[in-house]
Amino acid sequence: MTQGSFHQATKFCEEAQQFMLLHSIAPTPLHYSVAYCYFTKENLALNQKIDLQLAADKPLDDIFLDALFTEFLSNTQLIEDQIFTPIGETLNSALAQLDNQVSSEQEAISNLHKIGKALGRLGEYKPLQSITTFLINAIGQSQIQHKTLSSELNKASQEVSLLKEKLEESRQEAIIDTLTGLLNRRGCDQRLQELSLKNTHSSLVIDIDHFKKVNDSFGHSIGDKVIKLVAKIIKEHVSVDDIPVRYGGEEFVVVLSNKSQEIAHKIAENIRTAISTLKLVQRQSNTQLPPITVSIGVAELETNMTWSTLFNKADQALYQAKNSGRNCCVLANMNAASTQEATH
Ligand code: GH3
Ligand code: MG
Ligand code: MG
Repeated sequence: MTQGSFHQATKFCEEAQQFMLLHSIAPTPLHYSVAYCYFTKENLALNQKIDLQLAADKPLDDIFLDALFTEFLSNTQLIEDQIFTPIGETLNSALAQLDNQVSSEQEAISNLHKIGKALGRLGEYKPLQSITTFLINAIGQSQIQHKTLSSELNKASQEVSLLKEKLEESRQEAIIDTLTGLLNRRGCDQRLQELSLKNTHSSLVIDIDHFKKVNDSFGHSIGDKVIKLVAKIIKEHVSVDDIPVRYGGEEFVVVLSNKSQEIAHKIAENIRTAISTLKLVQRQSNTQLPPITVSIGVAELETNMTWSTLFNKADQALYQAKNSGRNCCVLANMNAASTQEATH
């Protein structure tokens, strides 16, 4: 961090704090983020809204600030880049300067000690000796103050690191489905950006058959366990380059990267078979669950197709699979006659 940006970031921190005090804004990290951004002026739309609110004599209350945060700052990468990173760098830079200060003070003290000793040996220059002692004490005091400040800055710097870690956690939580550990839709969208639409990719849309019955007969928590298990099996059948996603309730999407629909169809069949041959027992009552089955629609990305068109195509194939008796895989672009029926 340059000296200029260090001073600027420090200035923004101070201005944000004063602004919050002035407008009786509770000092939460969320409010602080909004206030800090107001002074960086990097987001003019955010500034405009705050200025309008102030001009209309309306309060900068929690609801208003939370809405601003959601609208402009809930992108955690933005918070990290625009707030935590500059603050962290400001602190570290201040710490480095303080450490330099402390070590030059140490050097000055030991030099003064040497001078003091030399003067002592000469047995003369008493006034100079007392000046030396005075300087040693004064510099020693300032060194103590600097050390205290340094340890406080260290603490603050650790807090920023902790906040950054939490931010990373929440970033992960935002893209990962908590029940299954698979990516959610947002995570899927992110990963899709890494794939080139020019290559051959395929997609599966997988939906658990008559899942409502599982919930109705065995309860929601067994239903959850079934969803988890299906997710696990899907994950076991795809490679690290593929993108398995819990798309919603009991529906999954898998993007099979650099794979044709023929390969995708084989993978879909393997997943379908593995699930339908599961033997599940409810431990509490020792009752065997009826077989769990899934229906799968398979489609391949074509030229000029978007991801959402691909998913729609696979979804239509899934619809056909449901209409063809479920527990089967259907390839898009194929007529009903070629539908692969279930192998019970
Ligand atoms: P189909 O074969 O046509 O797909 O029938 P279905 O019963 O699976 O389909 P439907 O869409 O009627 O029901 C889906 C059910 O999935 C309804 C909903 O309560 C349940 N569900 C959605 N999300 C969850 C979840 O997270 N946990 C549990 N246990 N159930 C869920
Ligand atoms: Mg279903
Ligand atoms: Mg469904």
